[in-house]
Amino acid sequence: MKFILTGTASGMPVAHRRHASLVIEDGEQRVLVDAGDGTSAALLAAGIALASITRIVISHTHPDHVTGLPMLLQGMHIAGRTEPLPISVPPGRVQWFREWLRGMYIYAEKWGFPFQVQQYGDIPASEGGLRIAPFPNRHLEKVRELAARHDVPADSYSLHVSSECCSVVISSDIASLDDVAAAAAGSDLLIVDGTHVLQDEIFAFAAAHEKLAVICTHIPPEIEPGLMALRERSAEEAGGRVLYAYDGMQYLLERTKT
Ligand SMILES: [Zn+2]
Repeated sequence: MKFILTGTASGMPVAHRRHASLVIEDGEQRVLVDAGDGTSAALLAAGIALASITRIVISHTHPDHVTGLPMLLQGMHIAGRTEPLPISVPPGRVQWFREWLRGMYIYAEKWGFPFQVQQYGDIPASEGGLRIAPFPNRHLEKVRELAARHDVPADSYSLHVSSECCSVVISSDIASLDDVAAAAAGSDLLIVDGTHVLQDEIFAFAAAHEKLAVICTHIPPEIEPGLMALRERSAEEAGGRVLYAYDGMQYLLERTKT
């Protein structure tokens, strides 16, 4: 299983990173997780043809995780894609996505490829041995009350990704490390939100789980000047197991089970 961290910025636009997206490669599967601003360009910069994406999974609907989606669909259409494309979104948000895309003249019957916006449970969690299981986190708790007044659900999700080789947790945005600690404890890799989790907590978690590799992404501008020092700290304290993402970074997880 290979992970390509195509977009590694936080919610703050910066010149040298694009917003949240990553690609999971496993066999024939190439799954895009989130589609923040600039995702199409981020994929192309990483050498990934837009047409090669087999499925899209959206963790939540903050702008830095979804605003690249319509452009990506447009790019696939213009490039002549014909393969169907399932797009998994959080429960309760299907109609909103459909309306949003419809308002941009993105209609399934006009588009060159059938795309299907469906909530998580309506698309099989497993495809070709790759299983992607979303589980809820508390990232949007802080807006739940206000969102309810606007008639919008405030649910956000982390993902448990597994295949016969390995087990990975992608936190996407979370409220704190507690949201993913139980799932990540038994996993091989944790891809974690560097904006909402303190670096000391990430290092403490890595120290407590000696076989776990951690990739910190969603990098906020305020930790950028300290990244070199954090990488040195990782080498000294964590055997280099805490990594800091940059756009286009690749991480290969190979079979560990016998
Ligand atoms: Zn968010």
